[in-house]
Amino acid sequence: MKPAKHSQTEVDNDKVTILVHTTDVWIWVFPFSNGRVSVGFVGNPEHLESVTGSTTERFKALLALNPSASEMLKGMEFCFEPKEIKAYSRGIKKLFGNKWVLTGNASEFIDPVFSAGVMFATESGVVAAKLVAEELKGNVVNWQKDYEEHMLEGIDVMMTYIRCWYDGSLQKLFFQKDKPEIIKKQITSVLAGYVWDKKNPFVKRSQRSIELLNEMTSQVEMSES
Ligand SMILES: Cc1cc2nc3c(=O)[nH]c(=O)nc-3n(C[C@H](O)[C@H](O)[C@H](O)COP(=O)(O)OP(=O)(O)OC[C@H]3O[C@@H](n4cnc5c(N)ncnc54)[C@H](O)[C@@H]3O)c2cc1C
Repeated sequence: MKPAKHSQTEVDNDKVTILVHTTDVWIWVFPFSNGRVSVGFVGNPEHLESVTGSTTERFKALLALNPSASEMLKGMEFCFEPKEIKAYSRGIKKLFGNKWVLTGNASEFIDPVFSAGVMFATESGVVAAKLVAEELKGNVVNWQKDYEEHMLEGIDVMMTYIRCWYDGSLQKLFFQKDKPEIIKKQITSVLAGYVWDKKNPFVKRSQRSIELLNEMTSQVEMSES
């Protein structure tokens, strides 16, 4: 979107913003230095299809349902008609074979809520390149363990966080007041891409750690009410 002529907008050009629309739908608002803004809805198709009409009409209707996004994008107009992509996440059966290896998006395209694409693309590229170099030196390479299992381990941790985002348990944690600093750091570290850091309990037992923390919070809330 771009600012309409003679209009004042509320978009902060320094901030990438993610807004929770419903538990299973979020909105991205990514500003560009030229004043344009990339905006989109991601989430459960059932919710995205709860409004009717053309893609543009549905986009506008969804936007109107979200006061924060409407306020933020007030005075903006479309640069082009919104587009819709369905079933964008992709997984594949095999990451390597005889004289080939898949890296980056070609190996996996996971839900973009935590912007993990470049991190996985970089990690897979670096690890694959090192193993190729080893093989070219004549050394035996264990692609299954050192590439495929390594990548799937990291992807699995990130997928846990993505699932917990859409089922609402991670959002509950995020928006909880007075979280211990250490917990904030540990969760931030995972989402920043340190998905192989086994010293972090939110990596090692990710699902359980999120569940435990939510259970503890619920108990504290109940005892306070
Ligand atoms: C709108 C959008 C926003 C995103 N935002 C983020 C974000 O904020 N953070 C994040 O981490 N990730 C983000 N991603 C995901 C991220 O961009 C990708 O995960 C990452 O770029 C994957 O890197 P890659 O090298 O595997 O693929 P790509 O970056 O897609 O590179 C593949 C390259 O191969 C070229 N190519 C394709 N076919 C051929 C061919 N036959 N011959 C030669 N060249 C070819 C393509 O032109 C392209 O340059 C976003 C993606 C999109 C679409």
